[in-house]
Amino acid sequence: MREVAYLLPTVPCDRCQQPAAHFSTAERVAIDLDLDHPILLLITVSVHFCTPCRHYFRAQPPFLQPDASYTNRVVASAVAAVYQDGMAMRRVPDRLARDFWVRPSEASIRQWCRVYRTRFDFATDYQPWVVQAFSGVLCVDEVYQGQLAFLFAVDPAAADGDRLVGYQLVQGDVDAARVEQFLQQLRDAGIHPDEVITDGSSLYPTVLSKIWPTAAHQLCLFHETRHVTRAVLEVIQSVRRTLPTPPPKPGRRWGGRLRASPPTDNPDDPDYQRWQLRQGTRQAGIAQVHVLARQGQSHRAIARQLGVHRKTVKVWLALEPPAAVPDDLAHDWHDRRIPDADTLRRQARQFKHDQVRALAQQGLSYSAIARQVGIHRVTVSTWLNHTSADDLAQSPAKPAPTAPDVASPALVSASHPPPPWQQWDEVRQVREDLQEHRYLLVRRPAHLTVDQQAQINTLLTSPVGSQIQVARRFLEEWYLLLYDADGQRRTLDEARKRFAAWSSDSEYAIVAPLRRVQERMTAQFERLSQFLRNPRWEATNNGAERAGRALRHRQAPHFNLRTEPAIEGAIVVMACQRKAAATTYGHRDIARCSRGRKPRQQMEICAAA
Ligand SMILES: [Zn+2]
Repeated sequence: MREVAYLLPTVPCDRCQQPAAHFSTAERVAIDLDLDHPILLLITVSVHFCTPCRHYFRAQPPFLQPDASYTNRVVASAVAAVYQDGMAMRRVPDRLARDFWVRPSEASIRQWCRVYRTRFDFATDYQPWVVQAFSGVLCVDEVYQGQLAFLFAVDPAAADGDRLVGYQLVQGDVDAARVEQFLQQLRDAGIHPDEVITDGSSLYPTVLSKIWPTAAHQLCLFHETRHVTRAVLEVIQSVRRTLPTPPPKPGRRWGGRLRASPPTDNPDDPDYQRWQLRQGTRQAGIAQVHVLARQGQSHRAIARQLGVHRKTVKVWLALEPPAAVPDDLAHDWHDRRIPDADTLRRQARQFKHDQVRALAQQGLSYSAIARQVGIHRVTVSTWLNHTSADDLAQSPAKPAPTAPDVASPALVSASHPPPPWQQWDEVRQVREDLQEHRYLLVRRPAHLTVDQQAQINTLLTSPVGSQIQVARRFLEEWYLLLYDADGQRRTLDEARKRFAAWSSDSEYAIVAPLRRVQERMTAQFERLSQFLRNPRWEATNNGAERAGRALRHRQAPHFNLRTEPAIEGAIVVMACQRKAAATTYGHRDIARCSRGRKPRQQMEICAAA
């Protein structure tokens, strides 16, 4: 507890402002913050009597609001945590309790924030400052949150970064009338831009030419470039669709879950032998996994080495390692299982065929045969009802695993893709590359690493390369329309000339998606190239994008900041705090040595020199 006396001899009367003399004292209690322990203030205040009004009143200590139970600095800390640090209101009580030994309720914090918001006024406190320092470049955009639209304008060229120039919250859709009303307000507030940047939305052109007839209207270059990249991706997609479909890869799997016991007891049955081999392979795999794990390898590394899933590795590690594993299985574990699986499956089928035929000759019924051999009755009938010639043609035993090229005409055509392809593997590779590296193909050349460029070159020289080359050239030329290879702006004349060549190139025009972009850009080019007329003007709406993103970031911790007044309050507070930061001097870094550091002013002079 800390005792505080706030006793004054006279205080101006709170009704008539005449000096009122000290009459008696009264007690107040308040909670204050502290770094080391909880603090309760026992405050003695003077009570005054105004003779003309015949009115008693208490002196108000400057650190405490009337009827408040927390001191002003508690309130200020809570509000700063919300509006400066972007904390969720529900988390502020814990934070204050940890750092300052006070735990106001969440409801109090909401109330304090509500009161704090009302102290700021966008139109009188903030807007005049932005208007007076306006750079002449204005970004206009809208962001949506459910039914609420936030229509806003940003000055991206201000000295300290983007500045919100104006905003409007709109319930429901933003239409031309709303936009007009909003821009009119800006104009009335004194904003007269030289350049206005918007995205490609159809809301703006007419309204802008009405409100600011002389201002240049620039379409956001970034948004328009997306039409180009989208068209190129469309071309790549269609090229990929025209690739011949490779035949499925030869069976690489054992097929089915491994039974706990062999399917038959007959050791001559290939099914039995296959089961044996699978079982042996599995045991060898388990042994290998244990050996590798003892070497300290990760599950992932083991899975990669053995070609099994890492969940399998985990399951196998949980099992006892097998006592003895045949040597030949333990070696080359991974290589063995694939060819053997195919041969064994084929042998098993042949064995069953022979069995079925032998049993049929003994005069057994289909069902009896089916039961004995362990296959379906319909399969028995199918196998037996084929003539021997058919049987030969269909027999899976006959195919030659060693020389598939001469086995049948169907196999021959399947082994070679149509020209110009030479190998199915080549087709598979290009298919995968096109899917995996399609986004590399829309990247600007300067942003590609050597490896990525090599990857692109592989695709460009593949059998389908000619079509991709067209799309890629279309894109590369687009990137060079308004800027040169060093990123310097071109002159308007030069850009126009290049654009004329690009948009009338007949090689592009025969590809439908590219032609559509050519047509779109022909209609838009004037609005795309406005920024070239003045070196200070901007080409993209990034300022507005950033502001929209900042708003979303601010929203994120506030689950209850969903009402219009709350959102509006947050926007206004954000803007006014920006102004405060820009117009007041920052505190000095007292914990940092200034030796070797140049004062800011001097640095600017150096930079200018
Ligand atoms: Zn009075």
